[in-house]
Amino acid sequence: MFNFKAKMRTIVGFWVILGVIFFHCKHSERISLPTNITQQASSELQSTQDSLNFSKEYLLGKFDPATHPDFVKIDTKHTTKSDVYLRKDAYVAFVKMYDAAQKEGVNLQIISSTRNFSSQKSIWEAKWNGERLVDGKNLATEVKDSIERARIILRYSSMPGTSRHHWGTDIDINDLNDSYFLSGNGKKEYEWLTANAHKFGYYQPYTSKGAERPNGYEEEKWHWTYLPISKILVKQYPEKVTIADITGFKGAGTASTLDVIKNYVLGIDKACLP
Ligand SMILES: [Zn+2]
Repeated sequence: MFNFKAKMRTIVGFWVILGVIFFHCKHSERISLPTNITQQASSELQSTQDSLNFSKEYLLGKFDPATHPDFVKIDTKHTTKSDVYLRKDAYVAFVKMYDAAQKEGVNLQIISSTRNFSSQKSIWEAKWNGERLVDGKNLATEVKDSIERARIILRYSSMPGTSRHHWGTDIDINDLNDSYFLSGNGKKEYEWLTANAHKFGYYQPYTSKGAERPNGYEEEKWHWTYLPISKILVKQYPEKVTIADITGFKGAGTASTLDVIKNYVLGIDKACLP
């Protein structure tokens, strides 16, 4: 009798465990695979990484992400913007990171993603012309020296053709001010990202300036890059793009003196260099 009961308990226990595993798998699948591009992009990632060869036009952001086959529109659940795009591989990884963060009460919203050459040109020229103030200053009237004017814009904004946002691998999360991440929700979100983002392939390229990172943009706690792909882009950029290619916008003549490829495109955290 005792043996029969023990056997029954073992059999029932076995089926209960199997049921729990089955339910968990189905449930996890529902959470982590919210789009039909997920499985496709995951299986393609390895072969993509092995064969990626980016054109100069791609590296300079001279394409339309809305029609590019490697890009996908970001779901409204993940972004505060409409009609914004990311590379499929970077987005699949982001969705996994988003889901993991949600489970711990952290909400990650993409506030900026892919910006091509022409949209970066609009941002840059608005600052250059004084239509958009920089630190409360109209640079067109207050900073006559072109090198100095470019240097001020370059604290936080890239010259068209040199932005990591061209590549579809980089995103800005939740807020564009450093102070936001120093307390409250912002602090919690930044701490979660620094502890966990790397598990999903995401890294902060613009870390604090100092001996380790002497050149480039100021620290941006909001800017994260999908490193499995952006590392390849950073490697190919100086092989294919020269300073002469950084042209076609107001103030482009300062690119050479400021050596923007060496100091800004490559002026990133060492962990993000190839
Ligand atoms: Zn950014």
